[in-house]
Amino acid sequence: MTATLPSPKRPRWRSLALLALLLTPLLWPLQQLAERYYSGALIEQNRQTLDLYVANLLGTLRRYEVLPQILGDLPALRNALLQPNKGADLNKANRLLQQVREQTGADVIYLMDPDGKTLAASNWDQQDSFIERNFAFRPYFREAFAGRSGRFFGLGTTSGKRGYYFAAAVRDGTAILGVLVVKVDLDHTETLWGNTPEQLLVTDANGVVILTSRSDWRFHASRPLDNAERAAIAANRPYPTLAPAPLRIEPRTWLRQSRELAETGWTVSILAPRKLIDRPVRTAVAIGGGTLLLLMLLLGLLMQRRRHYLERIALDARARQQLEQRVQERTQDLELLNSRLKQEVLEREQAQQELLRAQDELVQAGKLSALGTMSASISHELNQPLAAIRSYADNAGVLLDHQRNDDARDNLKLISQLTERMASIIAHLRAFARRDRHAPESVALQPAIDDALALLAKRRRAMQVELIRDLPEATLWVQAGETRLRQVLGNLLANALDALAECPQPRRLWLSTEQNAEGIELQLRDNGPGFSAEALQRAREPFFTTKTSAQGLGLGLAICDTLMRALGGELLLANHPDGGALLTLRLRAASHGGNQPLAAVSSES
Ligand code: ADP
Repeated sequence: MTATLPSPKRPRWRSLALLALLLTPLLWPLQQLAERYYSGALIEQNRQTLDLYVANLLGTLRRYEVLPQILGDLPALRNALLQPNKGADLNKANRLLQQVREQTGADVIYLMDPDGKTLAASNWDQQDSFIERNFAFRPYFREAFAGRSGRFFGLGTTSGKRGYYFAAAVRDGTAILGVLVVKVDLDHTETLWGNTPEQLLVTDANGVVILTSRSDWRFHASRPLDNAERAAIAANRPYPTLAPAPLRIEPRTWLRQSRELAETGWTVSILAPRKLIDRPVRTAVAIGGGTLLLLMLLLGLLMQRRRHYLERIALDARARQQLEQRVQERTQDLELLNSRLKQEVLEREQAQQELLRAQDELVQAGKLSALGTMSASISHELNQPLAAIRSYADNAGVLLDHQRNDDARDNLKLISQLTERMASIIAHLRAFARRDRHAPESVALQPAIDDALALLAKRRRAMQVELIRDLPEATLWVQAGETRLRQVLGNLLANALDALAECPQPRRLWLSTEQNAEGIELQLRDNGPGFSAEALQRAREPFFTTKTSAQGLGLGLAICDTLMRALGGELLLANHPDGGALLTLRLRAASHGGNQPLAAVSSES
C-alpha cells in the first residue's frame, strides 16, 4: 500500500510575473514621493535664487530712488531752471549731472523744464543727447510735475534700452520749477543672470514681460490686457510694440515661483523646467523597481528552495515508507520462512525418528541375514572346540583304560570348559540376533586376552607369529561382558593373523594396554599390510571385506564395533606409522574384583 503524499505546489515564474505586475502600482506612490521630495528641494533652491535676485533688483532700484529729490535741491540745477537762457548755468548743470551719473552709475540723469523739454542732461555731449528733447508725454514727468514721485518702466525713445525712470519735482519754495529724472539701465541686470536651466521673469503691472533670461519671452503678455491697459500702453509706449503677443507658459513644463514687488507693481518669477526633477525621480523609481524586482527574485528563489525542501521531505517520507513497507514484507517473508523452517525441522525430526527406526530395523534385518551367512564361520568356530573335545574325550577313554583317572578327569575338565565356551559362543550369537543388551560387568582383561590367544594359539604357532605382550602384571578390570569381550578379542586376533598370512617373516603381533582417566585402552598391532584406505573407511560396515568369500564374511569388525558400543566402549581402526594395522579397544575401567572369567559366561547366556 503506497500512500500518496501531497506534492507541494510549484511556484511558477508566470505567477511571479503576475505578482510583480500587481506590485507595480506600488511604484506610483514611490514616484509621487520622489517627485514631492525633489520638487521640494528644487523649490527651496529656487526660492533662495529668487530671494537673491529680488534683493538684487530692489537694491539696484532703491539706490536711485531718492537721487532725483536730492539732486533737485542742488542750487546749480535750480539756477538752470530759473534762468534757462543763461548758457553758463546750463553748461554747469550739464557737467554736474554728468559727474553725478559717473559717480552713481545711473544710465542718464536729465533736467526738464515745466514743459517737459530737457534743459540739461548727463549725456549732453553725446550724439543721442537728450538736450532739447521733450518727454512731457512720459507719465513720470506728469507725476513728478504734479508733485508726486514719478516712476516708470519703459524703453528709451532714443536709446531703445530698457530703463526705469525715477522722477521728482525741482522746487523753489512751493513752486515747481521743473523735473529731474534718473534713468536706471535695466538691460544690464538681465545680463547678470547666469546661463542656468532656471529662467527668470519680471512682469510689470500689465503682466507684460519686461525682464527675462529668455529673449523670446521678452515683451510678451503673460495675461490678456484690458482696454485701459492697452490705451495706457499706446499712450506711454513702454514696450517696443503696442500689442504685446501672449506668452504661454505650460505649468506642466515649468515649475513657477513668484514674488510681488509692491513698490514697482512688478512680479518676479523663477521658472524651473520640470524635467530637472524628472531625471532623479526616474532614477529613484528605477531603483525602487530594481529593488522590487530583486525582492521578487529573492522571493522566487526562497519559494523555489522551499519547494525543493518540501520535495525532499516528501521524497524522504516516501523512501522511509517504502523502506518500512519492504521491512514489513521482509518480516512477513521471514516469519513465513521461519514457520516453514519450523515445519521442516519438525518433519526432519519425524523423518529422523523414522530413519532411526528403519535403521534399527535394517540393522536387525542385517543381523538376521548375517546370521545365516555366519553359520558357515560359526560351524568353523564351533568345529575347533568340537574337534578338541573329541580328541580330549578319546584321550580320556584311553587314560581311563590305563587307570589314569586323574589325567582322565583333567581331560574331562577341559572338555567341560570347551563345551562352556561353545555354549557361550552360541549364546552370544543369539544375543547378537536378539539385540542382547546385558548390562556390562567387571571383567578381568588379561585372562580374556589369554583365552582369546589360546583359541588361536595353534594357528599362530603354525604361522610363526611372534607375540610381543606389553601388559601389566596387575589385573586390569574393565566394564564388559566376558564372552563378548573374548569374541571381540578373538575376532581382532584372527584378523591380524589373516593379515600377517599375506606377509613374509618376520610376522609380529603386539599387545599393549594404556590406562588413563577415561579408562583402559588395549592396543593390537601387527606388521601386516595394514588397512587399505577404503577398508579404513568401511571396515565397520557389515559384509565389507577384502577377502574372498571362503576367507571372510565381512562381519567380524561389524560385530566387534556393535559389541563394543553396547559395552559403552569404542573400537578405533588405524594404521601404525611403521606399517601394519593398529586396533584400539577403548574400555571403561571397572571397579576391582569381579566375576571369574568363565563363570561370567553363564550370566550372559
Ligand atoms: P573379514 O575378516 O571377514 O573380512 P572383518 O569385518 O573382520 O571381516 O574385517 C573387515 C576387513 O577389514 C577385512 O576384510 C580386512 O580388509 C580389514 N582388516 C581387518 N583386520 C585387519 C588387519 N589386522 N590388518 C589389515 N586389514 C584388516
